[in-house]
Amino acid sequence: MYYGFDVGGTKIEFGAFNEKLERVATERVPTPSNDYDKLIDTIVSIITAADIKFGCEGSVGLGIPGIEDARDGTVLTSNIPSAKGKTLRKDLEAKLGRSVSLDNDANCFALSEAWDDEHKDAPSVLGLILGTGFGGGMIFNGKVFAGLNHVGGELGHMRLPLDAWLYMGEQAPLFDCGCGQKGCMDNYLSGRGFEQIYAHYYGEKLKAIEIIERNAAGDKKAQQHVDRFMEVLAMCLANLFTGIDPHVVVLGGGLSNFELIYDELPKRLPKYLLSVSQAPKIVKAKHGDAGGVRGAAFLNIKQ
Ligand SMILES: [Zn+2]
Repeated sequence: MYYGFDVGGTKIEFGAFNEKLERVATERVPTPSNDYDKLIDTIVSIITAADIKFGCEGSVGLGIPGIEDARDGTVLTSNIPSAKGKTLRKDLEAKLGRSVSLDNDANCFALSEAWDDEHKDAPSVLGLILGTGFGGGMIFNGKVFAGLNHVGGELGHMRLPLDAWLYMGEQAPLFDCGCGQKGCMDNYLSGRGFEQIYAHYYGEKLKAIEIIERNAAGDKKAQQHVDRFMEVLAMCLANLFTGIDPHVVVLGGGLSNFELIYDELPKRLPKYLLSVSQAPKIVKAKHGDAGGVRGAAFLNIKQ
């Protein structure tokens, strides 16, 4: 049995999955956001109850909006104050007497999609989130590639490629990033980026959905913006694809519902790829909000 926890800022979602990777239990509880002992006790009590229910010791995986420091195991997160700076995985292991896996929620999203029936035979799956931020997860042979510092897949903090910068012209916006750098793709390819690029060029703050509606209605500014965004997106993704060369790319997050992306990328990508490369299959995520729990549970799949 595989147990997964999607630990968010406001709620903890639990799911249990059988050997066929079918979900057989679900539970949602509020996140003890300022009481670390209560956070640990909440997770442990759900696991204990599930063990009794299923008559076994399930494997435990956690997805968090943050990163476990590879040096000392402390959690870097701003969304869960109670877990910030704590050795969450090690403390759970000590209480449970079994190993616990922990990864960031973008990697869990990517892993969940990679284990979908349609993609599970693909040697590599790149999950990209075009949500409030832009980030991703790299799955090779069904496993997360987390890297030396657990920042593997933090593609949003790679800077814009030069061709994308030049394409935006002399008035290109150089946005500051929360990580302390300038020009990170996070601020251009996310839903937030989509909105702030529009505001930069046209001096009007609109929601992404409003821009998309105006584009569909034939508004010239919105159409120019969408055309520019699609080209910049193609340049950025082609740059990533040349380095990673994924077999399948799955898009999640709010902006992944912008259907035009799936028509435009295949047309725009080839000219930015190496001549020997073909663009990978690019599809929309299937598991939505359930992806975090699924991916957390699947951290422990052994092959
Ligand atoms: Zn950054």
